[in-house]
Amino acid sequence: MTLLVRAGLLYTGTREIQNGWVLARDGLIAEVGSGPPPRADVVVDEPNCIAMPGLVNAHDHMYQWATRGYVPDGTLFEWLRALYPLWARIDAETVRVAARAAMARLLLSGCTLSSDHHYVFPHNRPGIFQALVESARELGLRFHPCRGSMSLGESSGGLPPDSVVEKEDAILTHTEAMIARFHDPGPGSMCRVVVAPCSPFSVTPELMRDSAALARKHGVRLHTHVAETLDEERYCVETFGRRPVELMEDLGWVGPDVWFAHGIHLNDAEVDLVAKVKTGVAHCPSSNMRLGAGICRVHDLLRAGARVGLGVDGAASNEDANLAVEAHQAMLLARVTAVSPTALDARAALRLATQGGAECLGRDDCGLLEPGTCADVACFRVDDLAHAGIKDLVAAIALAPPARAQSVIVNGRAVVREGRLLTGDEDEIAREIAAVSARLQVVDP
Ligand SMILES: [Zn+2]
Repeated sequence: MTLLVRAGLLYTGTREIQNGWVLARDGLIAEVGSGPPPRADVVVDEPNCIAMPGLVNAHDHMYQWATRGYVPDGTLFEWLRALYPLWARIDAETVRVAARAAMARLLLSGCTLSSDHHYVFPHNRPGIFQALVESARELGLRFHPCRGSMSLGESSGGLPPDSVVEKEDAILTHTEAMIARFHDPGPGSMCRVVVAPCSPFSVTPELMRDSAALARKHGVRLHTHVAETLDEERYCVETFGRRPVELMEDLGWVGPDVWFAHGIHLNDAEVDLVAKVKTGVAHCPSSNMRLGAGICRVHDLLRAGARVGLGVDGAASNEDANLAVEAHQAMLLARVTAVSPTALDARAALRLATQGGAECLGRDDCGLLEPGTCADVACFRVDDLAHAGIKDLVAAIALAPPARAQSVIVNGRAVVREGRLLTGDEDEIAREIAAVSARLQVVDP
């Protein structure tokens, strides 16, 4: 099966080609060129678009699509304490509906590869992880589901209520089963499982250590929240006598197979350490700003040589999932922090949203459009009212982020055409998420 994408401007991630095209064969890019294109079974002709590598989402909690708009003005810990009891009521159906909404929004805004950090597994509600994997398969999203966990309840000094924490043996057993069932380590993989205890304040150090050992035994990646807020830093210093990154280092949680969500409150030595050991950082600017968490030192991290990607984070602290918007926010935030417009240029911001995220996820076959990489392409209209006439069209995608993508290709297959999702019914997904969200709001008597 061959598919050709032809666009007014092709941005490969390194090269900008007028009237360029990409030929995909069996899910991989076979050729990139300009001028008269080769024949193909399917042709996606977008003369009014810029075609670029599909965007990569390095941090998310898709189930949160069902609990958007709560605690609009709270800190992370206030927001978490209010939401945990609602999250304790989710089941596989809630997660399926929420994930379909999150994934639809991601695909429609040009994201082709996403992680999802799922850490809420209420007792006796089977099938939650499977619902995530199946939803990605149905909608056609390249997916890295992270088997998250919480084991340190309030009664043991953690933040979450005891009703949402699991036993550590059960977590490790289930995680191993999910790796065996769904993890595909091969090139061009559509599904890779990640081991992902939630945070230093919701699991024990023992579970962190055991999770790292389990991941390394199976050659899968590790992900968790680190240094998101000063409340977390205080908790770690008071509870363990260590700063969050020091704690992670003690527990074997640094290295090229690890990426952290947020990485905001890092001191200079920690910035250097994260860069040196090649641990990734998923920067989530909208969520960080909504929760008033702080500002990730993106400029310093990049200067030190760190791997930095972008995440939309859960929709309960973002209310959307649009990575072009995150690139826009990251660019502006870096500039205002450094009081310099050169702190993060527009192309560097787009790099975070593509190659940077792919590096966090351990994908050297994603994030660029070159022969041999995955055929994941996002086409954005640049002739619409928002973009028509902008001088530098590549920069425009970060300066004036598009609301929707015109066409989106994942694994050499079109999943969005003319701004419409081909793999699901957007109106039906909206109706279902409205119903599920309403149901979660009603507290049982
Ligand atoms: Zn998060």
